[in-house]
Amino acid sequence: MKQVRIVLVEARDRVLPTFPAELGQDAKKRLERRQIEVRLGTRLERVEGDEVLLSGGERIVTKTLVWAAGVRPAALVEALGLPATKSGRVAVDQALRVQGHDRVFAIGDIAAVPYGDGEMPMLSAPAIQEGRFVADAILKLERGLDPGRFRYRDKGIMATIGRNAAVAQLGKLRFKGFVGWIMWLVVHLYFIIGFRNRISVLLEWAWDYFRYDRPIRLIERAKQKEGAP
Ligand SMILES: Cc1cc2nc3c(=O)[nH]c(=O)nc-3n(C[C@H](O)[C@H](O)[C@H](O)COP(=O)(O)OP(=O)(O)OC[C@H]3O[C@@H](n4cnc5c(N)ncnc54)[C@H](O)[C@@H]3O)c2cc1C
Repeated sequence: MKQVRIVLVEARDRVLPTFPAELGQDAKKRLERRQIEVRLGTRLERVEGDEVLLSGGERIVTKTLVWAAGVRPAALVEALGLPATKSGRVAVDQALRVQGHDRVFAIGDIAAVPYGDGEMPMLSAPAIQEGRFVADAILKLERGLDPGRFRYRDKGIMATIGRNAAVAQLGKLRFKGFVGWIMWLVVHLYFIIGFRNRISVLLEWAWDYFRYDRPIRLIERAKQKEGAP
């Protein structure tokens, strides 16, 4: 028996817009196979009581709405009155110094670090690299040296879609489906600190995987038989 209905509403024309189009399409296909209804090019207009109104006029009756349309920088940025960009992040120069302040740095989610046509995405990898850069820049400034300019080393992005399914982009390489999922597991295990922690997480994952032991797993395969648990 189908117990939950999940509708994914996305304003843009594909899911996972930071990934190459091909991986976004693959992710959508796999979500739909899991019976998730994907509405692309659709905006959430209003929430009225137990009803959600979408831009196409569709109304969805629900008591559960998960808002995942991006994060904003901490309110502190506004309170400090520092120069900010349209996104509300602090405007910084190439050395991550706040514009107009030679000895004040901003990094991570709050910093509008120029990247490509826009700003650095709010992800942990840029935040970590920016932190390392600033530590080094401060030491250089103390020695009267030029702090240099920050260059982001893109090591790739990955996202899980569900059991046996993920998408990953590592440089020019792209992975999807089961291979992408294995990549996701390996990379995340690698970044866990300490051998014992890695083994314990690996065992826990293996337990979950082989026993389907996820008490709150709502998304099941589309072909599941009626009445199956
Ligand atoms: C739900 C969620 C899922 C995410 N998933 C991923 C992911 O899978 N991969 C990925 O790369 N990134 C992910 N991110 C983004 C990632 O967490 C951030 O990009 C990263 O943590 C930015 O680091 P930061 O140091 O700039 O900010 P934070 O890690 O947010 O640290 C800022 C700290 O400042 C503190 N703070 C705020 N205001 C004040 C104040 N006035 N005084 C003192 N302290 C204050 C906050 O409490 C917080 O601890 C996710 C973010 C969210 C919200």
